[in-house]
This record gives sequence, structure tokens and C-alpha cells, in this order.
Amino acid sequence: MDTETFMPKTLQQAITYYSDERACLDILVAKRWPNGVVTCPYCEGESCTFMPSAFRWQCKGCRKQFSIKVGTFMEDSPIKLSKWFLAMWMVANCKNGVSSYEIHRAIGITQKSAWFMLHRIRLAFGEQPTELSGTVEADETYIGGLEKNKHKSKKLNQGRGSVGKVAVMGLLEDGGKARTKKITAASKKVLHGEIFENVQGGSTIHTDSWKAYQGIDDAYIHEFVDHAVEYVRDGVHTNGLENFFSLLKRMIRGTYVSVDPAHLKSYLDEQTFRFNERKDNDSGRFQKVLGEINGKRLTYQQLVNSSVVF
Ligand SMILES: [Zn+2]
Repeated sequence: MDTETFMPKTLQQAITYYSDERACLDILVAKRWPNGVVTCPYCEGESCTFMPSAFRWQCKGCRKQFSIKVGTFMEDSPIKLSKWFLAMWMVANCKNGVSSYEIHRAIGITQKSAWFMLHRIRLAFGEQPTELSGTVEADETYIGGLEKNKHKSKKLNQGRGSVGKVAVMGLLEDGGKARTKKITAASKKVLHGEIFENVQGGSTIHTDSWKAYQGIDDAYIHEFVDHAVEYVRDGVHTNGLENFFSLLKRMIRGTYVSVDPAHLKSYLDEQTFRFNERKDNDSGRFQKVLGEINGKRLTYQQLVNSSVVF
């Protein structure tokens, strides 16, 4: 097989091809140092000798040794590259996400290691689109909380939602990309701020009749539909986001059972990535994850003290 061009297209091909540690290493080397010059992550020296038996390089400058994992989200992980590759494949491509228990059983590592691994892989999804344009739906939803509070109510507090739930705002281009973010409140200040930051001026914004969206029409064309009356009016609706939010909730309930609000950002990033890359194939989505492994770091301590990170 030609290592330059062969890319597995199915899970079965991925399992076969990525079972070879050297093949995985070569792929990562090509991603990391595309010009072919291995560069020391400690001193940026370019004189590094590969030691095949140790799968490490020795830097002639600072004398330190390093593996391909140093400077990536795999840093300090004793787990083989082949297992990392399969976990990345699964996260990139399982429509409703993949739990640490599934990773634990599928690749034979402990559930705790799998949980940590999944959180590190999600770092690849951290950057959501910011330049939305055209017709953009804006809406919020609420994650978690008690079953009896699960309906949307505009009577509670000054905002929407209810105690014990986390508010999430979504923006979705018609037929295009989505953006999601945990927000502190569904207030005018927060919602307008998100739209101003992430949607190009002059775009058309579709919302429901929630009063906090009113006034956005200075910079945008604002059209809204009153859900108390109808769900679609002259093509104005927020159905795309409603669908996105129900997929998100299905993922959280079905796969993750519950989500610590401190980790919600990473689950939002994950589901938003898969949604935004929905037109690509499994191989393409996996390659995108591989392209994001550099310069991202999450230690176990940071994760468990996660208010620091997320
Ligand atoms: Zn060095």
C-alpha cells in the first residue's frame, strides 16, 4: 500500500491500516512536519535523530528526547497511536457520539483512560465557525435539569429556561454551518452580543418572538415567528436549530446519559463539528481531527478541576 495516498474509508479499513504503529507515526510526522524537517518541540532545533526502537527522536541541540506525542493532545499518554487513531475515528464519525464505556470495550483500555482520551480528542473541535452569513437562525435551548422543568417557559425569571439547567445558544446558516455556545442568560445583551460577534452584518436573522431578540434589526434584517401562533411564517422559522438541538439532546441522553455543566462546552464542540462536517465522509472527518492535534494540551488535573479549562 502506498502510505502517501492511502486513506481508509471505512472503520474496517481503519482498524486494519492503523493497527501498524509505524504507519500511524508516519502519518503524524507528515501532518506535523509537512516540509520533512523534524523539529524539536523543546528548543526548535532541526537536528534530530530518530531512534526506531524507541519510537523517539534525540535532539542534538538540547539533548532531550521526544516522541510524536509531545506538543499534541496525546502528550504523556502511554496509549498506543493505533488506539488513539481508532478512538479519533469513532469520535469523528459516530453520529450520536461515543461514550467512554464504548471506547473502553472497543479498544481495550480502562474506562477512566477512555474518558480522559475522549476529552482530549474533543480539543480538536474547539474552534467553531465565526463568520456566519446569509439567512441565520438564532435560538436557545436548555440542557439538564429536572424532567418536570423541561418545557420552555418564558414566564420564569426574567429570561427563559429554569433553575438547574444550562442555557445554550445556537446559530445556524440556512444549509450551512452551525455554532453553539453555553451562555449565562438568554438576555438581550448576551444574545445580541453573540450575533454581532459571529454573524456578518446585513445577514437575515430568523428567531422566535422572544423579546430579547428585538432591536437586532439595526444591523441585520430581523424576521421572527411567534411560536404561540405558528411555527413557520412566510418561510421564517427556526426549525433547523430545533432539529440540531434535538440531535444534541439525544446525544447527551443516549450516549453520555448526563453531562457535567463544566464539560458542556466540549460536548457542544463535538456535536457541532460532526454537524458542520456532515457533507464530508468518514475519512475526511477523521483527517480533520488529525489536523488539529498539535498545540493542544489537557492534563488530567486540569480536566478534573475542569472549571479551569471549560
Ligand atoms: Zn531540542
